[in-house]
Amino acid sequence: MKKKVRINKDNCIGCGLCNATVPSVFDWDDDGKMKTTVEFVPAGEEDAVDGAVADCPTSAIEVE
Ligand code: SF4
Repeated sequence: MKKKVRINKDNCIGCGLCNATVPSVFDWDDDGKMKTTVEFVPAGEEDAVDGAVADCPTSAIEVE
């Protein structure tokens, strides 16, 4: 089953780490914070997104 991925903008501090590690999923938004460019975690990117979730310093990435 596909997992949804989203950014909690209230928590994101715009450090850029998730974009650096998974650019196919995370990209800069106009507000200087991160946005997702996809609604669901793409096939083959599950481990990378899980790593981004674990590494985000503010726990701003939500996968469900
Ligand atoms: S790693 Fe977390 S805090 Fe940093 S840009 Fe991504 S969502 Fe924002």
